[in-house]
Amino acid sequence: MFKKILIANRGEIACRVAATARRLGLKTVAVYSDADAHAKHVMACDEAVHVGGNSPKESYLQWQRIIDAAKATGAEAIHPGYGFLSENEDFAQACAKAGLVFIGPPASAIKDMGLKAESKRLMEAAQVPLVPGYHGADQDPALLQKEADRIGYPVLIKASAGGGGKGMRAVEKAADFAAALDSCKREAINSFGDDAVLVEKYVQRPRHIEIQVFGDTHGNVVYLFERDCSVQRRHQKVLEEAPAPGMTESLRQRMGEAAVAAARAVKYVGAGTVEFIVEQPGGYDKPDEMKFYFMEMNTRLQVEHPVTEAITGLDLVEWQLRVASGEPLPLAQDELDIQGHAIEARINAENPDKNFLPATGTLHVYRKPAASSFEIDEVRVDDGVREGDAISPYYDSMIAKLIVWGATREEALGKLDAALAEMRIVGVQTNVQFLRRVLATPSFSQARLDTALIPREADSLFKQDPIGVDMAVASAVAQTVLAEQDAQSHDPFSRVDGFRSHGVASRRIDLQYAGQPVVAKLRYLDDGLQLKVGEGEAAALDFRRQPDGRIDVRYAGRREVVQVFARGEVMHVFGTQGATLITELDVLTHSSEGVAEGGRLTAPMPGKVVSVAVRAGDKVRKGQALAVMEAMKMEHTIAAPQDGVVDEVLYAPGDQVAEGAELLRLGTGT
Ligand code: ADP
Ligand code: ADP
Ligand code: MG
Repeated sequence: MFKKILIANRGEIACRVAATARRLGLKTVAVYSDADAHAKHVMACDEAVHVGGNSPKESYLQWQRIIDAAKATGAEAIHPGYGFLSENEDFAQACAKAGLVFIGPPASAIKDMGLKAESKRLMEAAQVPLVPGYHGADQDPALLQKEADRIGYPVLIKASAGGGGKGMRAVEKAADFAAALDSCKREAINSFGDDAVLVEKYVQRPRHIEIQVFGDTHGNVVYLFERDCSVQRRHQKVLEEAPAPGMTESLRQRMGEAAVAAARAVKYVGAGTVEFIVEQPGGYDKPDEMKFYFMEMNTRLQVEHPVTEAITGLDLVEWQLRVASGEPLPLAQDELDIQGHAIEARINAENPDKNFLPATGTLHVYRKPAASSFEIDEVRVDDGVREGDAISPYYDSMIAKLIVWGATREEALGKLDAALAEMRIVGVQTNVQFLRRVLATPSFSQARLDTALIPREADSLFKQDPIGVDMAVASAVAQTVLAEQDAQSHDPFSRVDGFRSHGVASRRIDLQYAGQPVVAKLRYLDDGLQLKVGEGEAAALDFRRQPDGRIDVRYAGRREVVQVFARGEVMHVFGTQGATLITELDVLTHSSEGVAEGGRLTAPMPGKVVSVAVRAGDKVRKGQALAVMEAMKMEHTIAAPQDGVVDEVLYAPGDQVAEGAELLRLGTGT
């Protein structure tokens, strides 16, 4: 076994690798960018080396500097994590040349599986089932169209070099093919520097089921069962679970063996994932009719590996380290089995109501589920941040992964909801409430899974308000009164109840809730408080603070136990059913999220301008796409807020822009 390794990554995965290394008695070396100088992953390692500026290109992708750092610190091996250099064959080769062990597969296997089209040709030869499609080298547009016609619509055009859900276009009918091909190629060349594509049958209502495989240098390859990652947004995973609901022993074995064959075909060593798209022609309840097709192989540890760890009781990073140091796999296929059920939720900095627009900011409050609420080992949080850290625009938007284990799926689901309900994040928008709503949908809870689950259940997933204006106002008032009482008890001369006169006093609080002004009127009566919200009936308000800081609020016949965090004028109310925020109106600060203010169109976040679709003088209609920006691994379309004429375009494709920067100016044309 190694004595010291360098971890060429950041965030939660760097912390996660460091934790196993520490448990096994290995020393660790972190690398970091300017923005990450004080990041959690730096503190999690024994040593740390600065490798450059904020953007991945200037730091985490600077592989010569990373290799130099390993040499300088005496590390024997490099763990690449996922993303960044993990699937870079040149880096794997450079490690070997420098006398360092790359903790991952051989460079040749990375290359073989690197391009989707070529990997499909290899898989075809290894008799792994493929989605009907075209993955040839000839890229003549006329030929591609002919192939699409032959496959039959709908089809999916995929960038061969694509990844992370990017570079894909679904095409409904022949007439749309040429335009979709153009746009796919454009995105592919911009994002991956390679515009080769393949065309596949677009599988209807498919599931994404993947198999974890592991190989060693002694020729052994096993599969560690499956993960179902069907719940996706923008072709990216949101919830992942193991085992896959409804899986039969026979299908598991066939998929496992196909994955092992895929791995063997490229002489695979280490941790890898073979992703399958699964057709369910018989619907959700007929696993025997499910058909699986190879999609791609990810030649690294995957984000969702903890669910496999939870059901197998294994530490996959430990296996990676053992295999990389030349040891055989710790267990054989017949020694592996599944215990219970595990689900992972990716907690992202994003706004689900705005098409999952990534968010940035500072984690003013960041509290995880209390260990005391759960059995040890049943709830795991993998993260790379602490309270006070920033979610910057330089890296992806994942804040944390919440992983729960239960004896059954139902139990795991219940625990995940309870754990999500205990997350307290203030300062950055997140998908926590959205995730809870996904868990509650009939589709998810009854395991009617396919990749269209989110759009299918959209009615109950977006812009929901489980707390409601009355309870939100009652909570805000309770928090305000309690804070005033605290202040008073510390300062006997302050008189916050100075407005009280003739025994009965009332006060008015101007608030804003869900974009609407709300007037709250509070009356102090002899037998307690009375609250009137907007035009509603006045009703008794009662509240009591609990020792843990939560407030037990009773208002108008309802009861809710809330925790309120006040930041400036904004109060963040966390209840058992969900969370919301409410603002005191007089000192309202305007958020910069609004894309349009008058004729100004501003960048919703810092990022790069990918394309501009209009020129000065162009007439545009409301909703028309004007420009595309990229930030945090996603593209965002800037649309016209109203009909008008483009006065001026202020940035060109390739430009980096700051949040709030004016991108275009729209006029009325008069
Ligand atoms: P998976 O199939 O495991 O979800 P993805 O292709 O979405 O894999 O990427 C894996 C992870 O790699 C991402 O979630 C992200 O954390 C990380 N990653 C990939 N590219 C980048 C990048 N350019 N900057 C920061 N992180 C990245
Ligand atoms: P990436 O490299 O971006 O992960 P994948 O090829 O793994 O790309 O596909 C990502 C997702 O796109 C899948 O999980 C699935 O939801 C969807 N997808 C891919 N291929 C197909 C297909 N042929 N039919 C339907 N959906 C597909
Ligand atoms: Mg994939």
